[in-house]
Amino acid sequence: MRADSYGSYRAKLVEAVRARGVRDLAVLRAIAEVPRHLFVPPAFVERAYEDTALPIGNGQTMSQPSTQALAIEALRLVTGREKVLEVGTGSGYQTALLAMVAGQVFSVERVAALADKARAALAAAAVDNVSLLVGDGTLGWRAFAPFDAVIVAAATPEVPRPLLDQLAPGGRILLPVGKRSSQVLTLVTLDADGAPIQTALTDARFVPLLGTHGFDA
Ligand code: SAH
Repeated sequence: MRADSYGSYRAKLVEAVRARGVRDLAVLRAIAEVPRHLFVPPAFVERAYEDTALPIGNGQTMSQPSTQALAIEALRLVTGREKVLEVGTGSGYQTALLAMVAGQVFSVERVAALADKARAALAAAAVDNVSLLVGDGTLGWRAFAPFDAVIVAAATPEVPRPLLDQLAPGGRILLPVGKRSSQVLTLVTLDADGAPIQTALTDARFVPLLGTHGFDA
């Protein structure tokens, strides 16, 4: 990451994330280093380092950083070499966090205008281990499967089948499962026979995942 003058703001954000219980040092380091002000819309730059969700245009929202940090911590990206699929690039901020903690990030966004802005922000932040695709992320990204971890940044009625199919052995999926209005952030792992096991982490409210294996657009 490039040096800038926002380090002390980020240090406060790290404290807010720690207060939510995040202890993974790689995740805390990512919060301390990723320049969130490059990912928020210009009108919200002054609030970039508050631990709060912000609108990003096209009716979408970027989540509270501490929730994103909890989700990434739950993926246990311990080697730092993992191949991660992200569904719902949005602003690209979470993509940048993942890029610091994992080896390679493949991120799919449905709205081309958001993907364009995310691409520019990731370049400005000098993040270079990310590939972006405009399309329906409920279908995964078959060309780069299998993935060690999958993270879905929008609410799904159930775990999209293609994401399970594109998971490497020992892989895990983190996603908000439930209704359009409220969900439970859920960790999905596979048992020895490849059957999914779901563990509930925390209540959540995400924008809906729209697509073939999501909600109707
Ligand atoms: N994590 C993002 C916030 C994402 S908001 C951030 O840090 O900014 C959820 C995103 O999912 C939105 O940008 C929305 O357009 C996108 N989305 C919704 N349905 C999708 C689908 N089927 N495939 C890919 N992206 C989708």
